[in-house]
Amino acid sequence: MSSQTSIHPLLDSGVKTGNASFAGGTLVCACTDRPVKVAVKGAVGHNHACGCTKCWKPQGAKFSVVAVTAHENIEVLENGDKLEIVDSSALIRRHACSVCGVHMYGPVERDHAFRGLDFIHPERFQEGDWPEPTFAAFVSSIIESGTAPSQMAAIRTRLKDMGLEPYDCLSPVLMDVVATWQAKRSGLLTD
Ligand SMILES: [Zn+2]
Ligand SMILES: [Zn+2]
Repeated sequence: MSSQTSIHPLLDSGVKTGNASFAGGTLVCACTDRPVKVAVKGAVGHNHACGCTKCWKPQGAKFSVVAVTAHENIEVLENGDKLEIVDSSALIRRHACSVCGVHMYGPVERDHAFRGLDFIHPERFQEGDWPEPTFAAFVSSIIESGTAPSQMAAIRTRLKDMGLEPYDCLSPVLMDVVATWQAKRSGLLTD
C-alpha cells in the first residue's frame, strides 16, 4: 500500500484518546461564510471509522469518522436554511450543508433498531476531546469507492495496528443489537 493512502487525516498519525465523559458540543460545517452550527446536548457513543460509500468523509480519506447520539440531543443553532437531506429514502436521513457538503446529523426515523439515534461526525465538533473511534466498520466497502482489492490486506493490518478492529459490517455489539431487535419484533425473543 502506498504511504500516501489516508485512512483519515485525524487517524493517520495514530488514534488520539478522547474524553470518555464527553458531554456534547457544537458541530460546525466547513463553510467560512454562514457556517451551519448544530448543538449536540449529550453524550456520543459507538464512535468508529466507516468505509461505506454514504458517510461524509474529508477529501482523500478512505474512511469517515462517525458516531451516534440520541435524537433529542440534536438542535440546529445557526444557518439551518442551508441544510438538505442527501437521500430521503436511505435509513439514515443525512442532513448535509448544501454549500460545503458536510453531513451535520442523520436521524434514523424508520422502524429499526437504531430508531431515535442520529449519526454525526465528531471531527466537526469545535471541541476537540470527543471520544476516540474504537473499531472500523464496512471495511470491504472502500473497494466500492475505488480502493484496489490488492490493498485490502495492508489496510486491515494498518487498522488493527491503530487499535481499530476491522469489520465488514458493524461491530459484533451493534450487529447483536440489530439482530436482537429483529428477533423481538418477530416474537422469537422476549424481554
Ligand atoms: Zn457548509
Ligand atoms: Zn458509513
